Amino acid sequence: SPQDVVTAAQVPFLAKQSFPLCMQNMYSRLHADAHLKHWGRMQLGLFLKGIGLPLEEALKFWRAEFAPKTTGEKFDKEYAYNVRHNYAKEGKRTDYTPYSCLKIISTPVPKGDAFGCPYVTLSPAELAEQLQALRLPSETVRDAVAKSKGKHYQLACMAVFEGQHTCICDSGINHPNQYYDESRKVLLE
Ligand code: SF4
Repeated sequence: SPQDVVTAAQVPFLAKQSFPLCMQNMYSRLHADAHLKHWGRMQLGLFLKGIGLPLEEALKFWRAEFAPKTTGEKFDKEYAYNVRHNYAKEGKRTDYTPYSCLKIISTPVPKGDAFGCPYVTLSPAELAEQLQALRLPSETVRDAVAKSKGKHYQLACMAVFEGQHTCICDSGINHPNQYYDESRKVLLE
């Protein structure tokens, strides 16, 4: 679907309302640490591009998130290139597309990284705790944890979508940007 333009200032509330858990977690880690390692920056950065955050807003967003620990000068020298790279303004000028669930699920997660699908990487107890913190109905939490344990990661994600939006998600979840688009559709209806 054609996307509306999203600004850096809108990211926090959009994250809360409509990001799938993988992107929520990377964003929380970024915000808490004022830093995010390479793969997380790439995955979250491409996702944000996919929801309609233009390059200038992306630079504003990342610079502000890094600001507690990184000066503007250092950001411009060490990180701005990566942000532009996601928008294909640097390097080979490939148009990088956001990662699908399958790609995220099948990519090994370096230890201590916020990268990856939480339905894969979190223990059942950690997952239950996170989902409870989102104030999801307890049936949803139980259902999602059971599906994650059974390695039905995308079904776990779909159960969370349904619990969060109080609706049925017929299409299933196959892409973090699709999760976001479906969420905006339901919430703006
Ligand atoms: Fe993200 Fe896909 Fe995992 Fe959901 S199933 S958390 S959208 S990678």
